[in-house]
Amino acid sequence: MSTVKFLLPEDRIPTAWYNIQADLKEGAAPARHPGTHQPLGPDDLAPLFPMALIMQEVSRDQQIEIPEEVREAYRQWRPTPLYRARQLEKALDTPAKIYYKYEGVSPTGSHKPNTAVPQVFYNKQEGIKRLTTETGAGQWGSSLAMAGSMFGVEVEVYMVRASYDLKPYRRGMMETFGASVIPSPSDRTDAGKAILADAPDSPGSLGIAISEAVEMAVKDPGAHYALGSVLNHVMVHQSVIGLEALEQMEMTGDYPDVIVGATGGGSNFAGIAFPFIGRKLRGERDVRVVAVEPAACPSITKGSFAYDYGDTAHLTPLLKMHTLGSTFIPPSIHAGGLRYHGMSPLVSHLHNINVIEATNYNQMETFTAGIQFAKAEGIIPAPEANHAVVGAITEALRAKEEGTEKTILFNLCGHGHFDMQSYLDFMAGKLHAYEYPESEIAMALAGLPGVQD
Ligand SMILES: *Cc1c(COP(=O)(O)O)cnc(C)c1O
Repeated sequence: MSTVKFLLPEDRIPTAWYNIQADLKEGAAPARHPGTHQPLGPDDLAPLFPMALIMQEVSRDQQIEIPEEVREAYRQWRPTPLYRARQLEKALDTPAKIYYKYEGVSPTGSHKPNTAVPQVFYNKQEGIKRLTTETGAGQWGSSLAMAGSMFGVEVEVYMVRASYDLKPYRRGMMETFGASVIPSPSDRTDAGKAILADAPDSPGSLGIAISEAVEMAVKDPGAHYALGSVLNHVMVHQSVIGLEALEQMEMTGDYPDVIVGATGGGSNFAGIAFPFIGRKLRGERDVRVVAVEPAACPSITKGSFAYDYGDTAHLTPLLKMHTLGSTFIPPSIHAGGLRYHGMSPLVSHLHNINVIEATNYNQMETFTAGIQFAKAEGIIPAPEANHAVVGAITEALRAKEEGTEKTILFNLCGHGHFDMQSYLDFMAGKLHAYEYPESEIAMALAGLPGVQD
């Protein structure tokens, strides 16, 4: 029998994260002040984040040491396994080798704790008592809640109303860890009240929930805000995925010709891909890299590359990124974690300089692929992860057509155990193949702040 599972011993958890900014000639464009449009200094961000994270945000050091307390917490579920998808290869009858890194073994079932743990740790070190945040599908909220309970920091989560109503078990998980969960829009904040005045039945959006969480953090000097994706320091923390995968690929004797990841804000994609892209940028080894996003919320493939707000109420700094416009409310696809109007500035920059490719699929295609994967490999992917699965299957089928033996690596960023309703709905024929909502995006893009470099 040939090996399907490649495991690293505990002492191989990386001792430093990888920071791709060190290998870029030109780093990502600086964040700018939402009012003055001037580049931000560290002090501007201090009401929201601890100084350690602000420094990581702008660091150009290639290695950033992982604190021992964080490595200790990582030991709970890291290193995560790398699998060879032999059964899927057989089912597809492809000459390609397919590998996947499985982040669903974390306590909350996704890659999110990789950054939740260090974010809580650095806040605790700075004496912060309470963290506010938003959550869409509940993956980020439950991960921050878990990390908060580990380090004794209070967590307050603004959960997108539609998910709050549809996903009571994710809320139950957050509350089990001791977090408080508030459906967003709420009447606790000016941002929430303004939305409710216009639309009392608003289903909410990530952009609105971010506004509420930021507003609450700014109002309380003992509180900070935490973001689960998009920002540079999140990409740094998630690099543990790819650093482990580099070593595990060495164990297999293969090297990926193509790496595939699902992109919402870009963090799990960056996590698996950036350490390999670093090798490419340094001229050590080439690799193709493909970002897969939902057809209903296609920020890289259909958005503008421009400065935009991270939230609906325009309280956050301006980031230069691929965006669909901060007022865009994506159709309610089941991959809730991918329903965000913006994209990581670093992922956006890499696409802009043609280092990575991007593509999109509708949710009928992603669930079809997810079910094929589950039947072959026995793991039911999160609806978000199905985007990486369909991307990898497409590459494997292309290899079959071309008769090439390429090696594919993708990130299976989470399991779908809390998302079974979406699978039930798909199998009952209740899902729609939402495509790109052209006119709504055009409207939202017309409202870009028009900031020049
Ligand atoms: C949050 C989440 C995503 C989307 O966020 P990224 O920052 O793009 O990774 C994707 N998959 C899962 C399982 C998630 O929880």
